[in-house]
Amino acid sequence: VSGRSGDDDAQYEAGLRPRTLDDYIGQDRVRENLQVAIAAARQRGEALDHVLVSGPPGLGKTTLAYVIANELGVSMKASSGPVIERPGDLAAILTTLQRHEVLFIDEIHRLAPAIEEILYPAMEDYELDIVIGQGPGARSVKVPVQPFTLVAATTRTGLLTAPLRSRFGIVHRLDYYTEADMIEIVTRSGRILGVPLSADAATEVARRSRGTPRIANRLLRRVRDYAQVRADGTVTLDVAQAALVLLEVDAYGFDEVDRRLLRTIIDKFDGGPVGVNTLAAALGEERDAIEDIYEPFLMQVGFLERTPRGRMATRRAYAFFGLEEPGKDNRLW
Ligand code: ATP
Repeated sequence: VSGRSGDDDAQYEAGLRPRTLDDYIGQDRVRENLQVAIAAARQRGEALDHVLVSGPPGLGKTTLAYVIANELGVSMKASSGPVIERPGDLAAILTTLQRHEVLFIDEIHRLAPAIEEILYPAMEDYELDIVIGQGPGARSVKVPVQPFTLVAATTRTGLLTAPLRSRFGIVHRLDYYTEADMIEIVTRSGRILGVPLSADAATEVARRSRGTPRIANRLLRRVRDYAQVRADGTVTLDVAQAALVLLEVDAYGFDEVDRRLLRTIIDKFDGGPVGVNTLAAALGEERDAIEDIYEPFLMQVGFLERTPRGRMATRRAYAFFGLEEPGKDNRLW
């Protein structure tokens, strides 16, 4: 699966994965809506409507898919857009689905158009249109599939084609987690891993995790190592801070692109405003990634502003880098 660096990581993450909606921390509106939809589907004895979840990486889209399957009392099959290369791959998955099962497709926006078209009748009428033969002799046969629920993940719903998007009955966006939610997530993970963790240490790790549970769980793992080797195993605030300094994690948990994005606006464009296309070119990053992954977080922490004329670095951004904001007062001419 994309974005994971190894089996160890995957196992570690799976162990920390909430299994029920009650265990799933934060994202209250999404949770409540799903609770209602799942209960209704169960009462009617039907498959849950197809669900589309969007949001930056690491916020819990995969986790949510497992939670949905678990709450429905069904099993789940997982795949992803780039992995499904030929129409036959998808047909094979769809025809082996069991009644009411959940099919999770990560990065659904990366499905090839020819494969996407197979999904339409499957989602709508629970059947496949399979073309047999070629040329004038070709004919199409309909193959039934079991009623199922497609749970699809993407960074932004706007990346999907309109016909695909319109076939999802339930559409939700995950946002970066609040500090309070992040503290709860770190505390919960610490408890599951059996790491002695003080409340202020949990807060420190939470704050430096970029509003992202996956990052929090990774940092917790490193902090636990540090506590074990350099201290007595207990993660106190001092231990957490020392470990985070060693890991070069800053106060917000910015990654290299976050920092480069802000520095580019400040250094090359005098703090902005700068248009997103110009910014993307200067950074050598995709415009989509800037808009879907980097900007939402930088705006949430108040470092970046989106204005009609372009992106601007805020006073907080200047202060973060120890720079003086260019203003009327310190301008020489
Ligand atoms: P990607 O889109 O890159 O696959 P994702 O959004 O699907 O990322 P997950 O793999 O679901 O991210 O979540 C990453 C980790 O964060 C998991 O180990 C899970 O334990 C934890 N996590 C995610 N969401 C929550 C939550 N709401 N409460 C507690 N832990 C969470």
